[in-house]
Amino acid sequence: MLKEQQILRIPGPTPIPPSVQRAMSQQMIGHRDQDTKELIEQIKPKLKPIFGTEEEVMIIAGSGTAALETAVVNTVKPGDEVLVIITGSFGDRFAKICEAYEITTHRLEIEWGDAADPDEVKNFLENHSSIKAVFATYCETSTGVLNPVDALAETVHNHSEALFIVDGVSCLGAVEAKMDAWGIDLLVTGSQKAMMLPPGLAFIAASKRAWKVINQNQQPRFYLDMKKYRDNLDNDSTPFTPPISLLFGLEEALKQIHEEGLPEVFSRHQLMMHMVRAGFLEHHIPLLTTDKAASPTVTAMQPEDFKADDLRAILKKEFGLSIAGGQNHLKGKIFRIGHMGYCSPADILQTISLIEIGLSKIGEKIELGKGVQAAQKLYMNYSLSEVQ
Ligand SMILES: *Cc1c(COP(=O)(O)O)cnc(C)c1O
Repeated sequence: MLKEQQILRIPGPTPIPPSVQRAMSQQMIGHRDQDTKELIEQIKPKLKPIFGTEEEVMIIAGSGTAALETAVVNTVKPGDEVLVIITGSFGDRFAKICEAYEITTHRLEIEWGDAADPDEVKNFLENHSSIKAVFATYCETSTGVLNPVDALAETVHNHSEALFIVDGVSCLGAVEAKMDAWGIDLLVTGSQKAMMLPPGLAFIAASKRAWKVINQNQQPRFYLDMKKYRDNLDNDSTPFTPPISLLFGLEEALKQIHEEGLPEVFSRHQLMMHMVRAGFLEHHIPLLTTDKAASPTVTAMQPEDFKADDLRAILKKEFGLSIAGGQNHLKGKIFRIGHMGYCSPADILQTISLIEIGLSKIGEKIELGKGVQAAQKLYMNYSLSEVQ
């Protein structure tokens, strides 16, 4: 088999378009030179529609977790009370960051695989009047759930004075986000999921309400101080040396996204979600989430009669295909397919087809091609309805 061939179908990092790869290989420029200013000037307006905001989107060098930590240190301080809605391991990470900073952290634990219920949040807030911020995950990557952040925002604002802070790392750029219209106060993402870039950039935007809190927050911070990033961004610059190669890539990736058109990008992801779900349902392999809770960017399967990790191992060995396993108590119990960013229905057909071979090789009695056919039919119906 080809040693170099890799098929990356995990929920991040994700494949990079060739044009983005080429953009990143440009020669280095000075971070205080006019060239970098122009690059940032080009990038700024193209990020806003992805967040659904008129506010500036700040760019920080760091992984997605840097964005989560930025959200925490800028808005709350030790002793403040917060609520973290936990639908999986990334909600848990938000809570752990708050706990590390000695924030009084209430955990609203939701069963993994389920979406957060605004009524539960309402009940909690009615009994806790001093909550300063509510943290939630838009797409919970560990389970493939897309939480209803629009409804959650409404609930938080109707029942408290708290800021509503959302981790959009594994879906921004692939699903709609209307930060301003929905009332999200801080929205963050990273580069290596739906944004079609390598890891290394964190993005964060804040509402006017949030800025008031950020400006007054007494929590010490330096590298992650949002005020520094905002003041520099006003002059099309960053407070510290940015990863310039990633900025070259970002500019090109944003160009690609807007050339396809955001509505088209969102519907491509919807279609891929439906194709994956149809493919596995056809083989009676249970899906972890309901259709309603499912994310367009990542899908988790919870097989009953084989070991998820046996399947993953054979796929990696035979085809260089990487799919993800489970985290925490779902370790070994589920497998997850990332379908976001530089990924198309053609990739989904390949993935399902290879997984069917993998299933056969680990001894599952399945009919080859059945899942592929279900996904093909979905694709055909979709493209026919598009033509009308
Ligand atoms: C990937 C991811 C992160 C950030 O992880 P890093 O490894 O720090 O980039 C945060 N939240 C969610 C929901 C994610 O999927």
